Amino acid sequence: MTNQDLLAIAKEFESPVYVYDAEKIAFQYNRLKNAFSEIEDLRIHYAVKALSNISILKYLNSMGCGLDTVSVQEVMLGLKAGVAPKDIIYTPNGVSLEEIEEVVELGAQINIDNLSILEQFGAKHPEVPVCIRINPHILAGGNAKISVGHVDSKFGISIHQMPLLLRIVENTGMNINGIHMHTGSDILDIEVFLRASEILFDAAKNFKNLSFLDFGSGFKVPYTAGDIETDIEELGEKLTHRFKDFCKDYGRELTLVFEPGKFLVSEAGKFLARVNVIKQTTSTVFAGVDSGFNHLIRPMFYGSHHDIHNISNPEGKQRFYSVVGYICETDTFANNRRIAEITEGDVLAFSNAGAYSFSMASNFNSRYRPAEVLWYNGKAHLIRERETFEDLLRHQVVIDLETITSE
Ligand SMILES: *Cc1c(COP(=O)(O)O)cnc(C)c1O
Repeated sequence: MTNQDLLAIAKEFESPVYVYDAEKIAFQYNRLKNAFSEIEDLRIHYAVKALSNISILKYLNSMGCGLDTVSVQEVMLGLKAGVAPKDIIYTPNGVSLEEIEEVVELGAQINIDNLSILEQFGAKHPEVPVCIRINPHILAGGNAKISVGHVDSKFGISIHQMPLLLRIVENTGMNINGIHMHTGSDILDIEVFLRASEILFDAAKNFKNLSFLDFGSGFKVPYTAGDIETDIEELGEKLTHRFKDFCKDYGRELTLVFEPGKFLVSEAGKFLARVNVIKQTTSTVFAGVDSGFNHLIRPMFYGSHHDIHNISNPEGKQRFYSVVGYICETDTFANNRRIAEITEGDVLAFSNAGAYSFSMASNFNSRYRPAEVLWYNGKAHLIRERETFEDLLRHQVVIDLETITSE
């Protein structure tokens, strides 16, 4: 995808618009597969919540990728995309027993992350195989906002509760077929991840009928040139070795599962927004774009960095800009960032806009959610239309105040 391709997309589909490069998604998928090529049975389940467009799900599934889902609705989207139920793992937290039962009906693999529901579910459906999500109490990354494996986290069953867990499994006679962990979003230190894996292996030894071990995700991708990222190849080498040893001890070949979201789609995505206004104040030059945290909330929500390029004037002289949105809230995308000289009307491309970008968009300020385009085989394909005024009205019930009388 060249700048010219992106500009043509902004022209044809207007701005703001999300663009995803299919080739980059395939590249990441194959990179992860290759890193674990020594594993007999590796399954990659794409975390739908990162980017849930059905065409993206279909595309990943066409390469052999399964899905990791966190709601019954994501399971339904996966089925709609043609993914087989057996290739869908359902890893919710804090959902009702009823929702889990709905997903059992749909045929996806259930993963339970708390003892209360585990006990209720086991008592009612002892025949349904269940995976258990443990919390190894290891802080994988430096960012507490996105780490979910540490001691105070609401995610997973504490490994310290293993005796209680085992008692529930025994009393209900339920069938545990997998053990799962998902420690957080940023694996920076492979040794830390391997330590968490040891805890998973330890937990796994307690169960006789396992068919898979699910190591979740947490692969860090680079956000800018020179940024740190998870060394997938090193992880592949070390974990493969350890996993094989474990299977030998366990007495059976198990499936190794990963659930990457960000790793597969983050870098494939670009968000294109047009500059409405350049506003010079005494200390800052603001570039105001036709977007805001209603479309891309990560910079404001997580403090994430997204590279921003002026694709209308890529060779222009570098100047400092604060890139802000048009929402009536502070919605700063970037503070005093060096960007090629911007003129009103220019198109800015935000990098790493594939994961947790469109999927976290809202209608705040009654703005439409943007269109989405898949760049596939050298051509742009619309995979979601921009919303219209009708979408804002849909489901609103306009009551007739005149006809309502008080008793
Ligand atoms: C969100 C999530 C993932 C994906 O995390 P990434 O950081 O996007 O790779 C995987 N597994 C579970 C259970 C999740 O909730």
